[in-house]
Amino acid sequence: MSRKPIIAGNWKMNLLQEEAKELFLAVKGYIKDYTKEQLPIIVVAPTFTSIAAVESCRCNCGCREKLFTSAQNCHWESKGAYTGEISVEMAKDAGCDYIIIGHSERRQYFSETDEMINKKAKAILAGGLIPIICCGETLEQREAGETDNHIAGQIRAALDGLSEEDIAKSAIAYEPIWAIGTGKTCDADEANRVIAMIRNVVKEVSSAKAADSIRILYGGSVKPETIEEQMSKSDIDGALIGGASLKADSFISIIDKTMKLN
Ligand code: PEP
Repeated sequence: MSRKPIIAGNWKMNLLQEEAKELFLAVKGYIKDYTKEQLPIIVVAPTFTSIAAVESCRCNCGCREKLFTSAQNCHWESKGAYTGEISVEMAKDAGCDYIIIGHSERRQYFSETDEMINKKAKAILAGGLIPIICCGETLEQREAGETDNHIAGQIRAALDGLSEEDIAKSAIAYEPIWAIGTGKTCDADEANRVIAMIRNVVKEVSSAKAADSIRILYGGSVKPETIEEQMSKSDIDGALIGGASLKADSFISIIDKTMKLN
């Protein structure tokens, strides 16, 4: 089956409101000449304080169907005494269609566990949004030959208890931690191998239908120079991009190259 690619920019803790708007408007300016059928699904994940600013730039020109907003995190509870957190409903209310969860920076710096990521995935899907579930191994795990086991464990835990339908509409981002922000991309064949292994895990825990539908992205120092090779691989359905999504020219170039491969 053919899966529509997703090109997602994770802006992390960068860009004030005006900067976020400027970047968003540059992408919006680029996509206006293309139909949603021609374009990949384009997602940007601003920091919470810039989501509303970006949302104010989405209008009825058709960009709502081409350009989507994501939160970078959420809490699984719907409301209450959770200082500093936001709920799925709040992200939705702010205009988000997607929520990134389980990014390695959140696992590493904020002690997020597989169990928490599973609760978030359930809350996001129950709220009608799409989770982008991140997974990935450290360099030590890769060197010790633990990559596949580690990632399979992260995926099994994240998808635990989800229906086939919910899994089918979700997205996963395979992001080797040693490739994030380092300039070192994972070899495209190896990224494709790990992603195919993830798809197999999805098939085992759910069904062939869910495994065929779920979008599995690669993330880790994706650049305009790497995207074509990555997107030419059988199981890579798009990219989650940090650094290169912060500059209009590189993010647009990645979108443009992905579109032209379609
Ligand atoms: C990320 O943090 O999700 C990421 C892939 O970052 P970068 O593209 O900068 O490696």
